[in-house]
Amino acid sequence: MKISDITPDYIRAISPYVPGKPVADLAREFGLDEAQIIKLASNENPLGPGPKAMAAITRAAGEMTRYPDGSGHDLKAALAARYRVAADQIVLGNGSNDILELLAHAFLRPGTSAVMAQHSFAVYPLATQAFGATGIEVPARDFGHDLAAMRAAIRADTRLVWLANPNNPTGTWLPAADVKAFVASVPPNVLVVLDEAYNEYLAPEQQADTASWLGGYPNLVISRTFSKAYGLAALRIGFGLMHADIAAMLNRVRQPFNVNALAQAAAIAALEDTDYVSRSQVLNRQGMAQLEAGFARLALPFIPSHGNFISVKVGDAARVNLALMKQGVIVRPVANYGMPEYLRVTIGTDAENARFLEALAAALRE
Ligand SMILES: *Cc1c(COP(=O)(O)O)cnc(C)c1O
Repeated sequence: MKISDITPDYIRAISPYVPGKPVADLAREFGLDEAQIIKLASNENPLGPGPKAMAAITRAAGEMTRYPDGSGHDLKAALAARYRVAADQIVLGNGSNDILELLAHAFLRPGTSAVMAQHSFAVYPLATQAFGATGIEVPARDFGHDLAAMRAAIRADTRLVWLANPNNPTGTWLPAADVKAFVASVPPNVLVVLDEAYNEYLAPEQQADTASWLGGYPNLVISRTFSKAYGLAALRIGFGLMHADIAAMLNRVRQPFNVNALAQAAAIAALEDTDYVSRSQVLNRQGMAQLEAGFARLALPFIPSHGNFISVKVGDAARVNLALMKQGVIVRPVANYGMPEYLRVTIGTDAENARFLEALAAALRE
């Protein structure tokens, strides 16, 4: 017997999350100079942190010996004003990943199920399985969520539906009207978790005020993050907007100090730094066009994306990925998302995108 045998079967059956390869790991493994490596693997903001967030972190660092505000009062006040919700409808998370886990913790257990789409975010099946619930994966349509099929997949034991809009790793997007009709069609005793991690990258006319739907749908949860367009991935901060009754349940299973003080201070500053967010959006739009044009030149099909990344069909993606790594370029293979012929590439700076396209052309010639 192994000591690990005493864990539940469903824990042992989990395939761990595979993160983007850290720069230092690639440098070690391939004997490369870290300074020469570019990482376009984790949908991080290529601008680096914003100046307002940096200043806020420096100020907050002086208080590092104190526990953070476990209620996140100031950040919740800022978010409540921004999204026109009450503070008790907001739960802060150590990354929005934390919000997803808290939802699974509070609502899932063995004997229940959660519905999700094929080629959707890896954390959904992980969080579902971690609490012994059954994941129901619904085949995608053109790589996007098939909402009618997802609605039909809901069973009597279903407690939760995971819905990413835009979706990662495909970048597909559903218009607000379709999402709202879906939420309205779901039984009121099933949560709809609407993960909007990439919302800020949508064109303004595509960005819906989904928080305004909360009043009509007490089973809706909206998840957002500071990791992407706000450029704070390392700090780990995200939040959920939801009915106060749901928030009260998440607060029962949440660590008392789950969001650190630097993250709270930086997030307040980042929310106000509309200039940084606009620069991120512009850079992303330009970089997306640059990569699309590059893929067209290489005659590579790609999935049109609404995020800060794009998935491109390269054929033997494992081989191409290795050839890229040897050239010091880190992207994300997505075979574990059921897309073995694709690589997902984060939109970088102009120079990073150009370097990636050159390395990709070389990798395809090999
Ligand atoms: C990146 C991402 C998140 C955000 O993760 P954090 O924990 O907030 O860093 C959430 N959902 C999706 C679909 C993502 O791609």
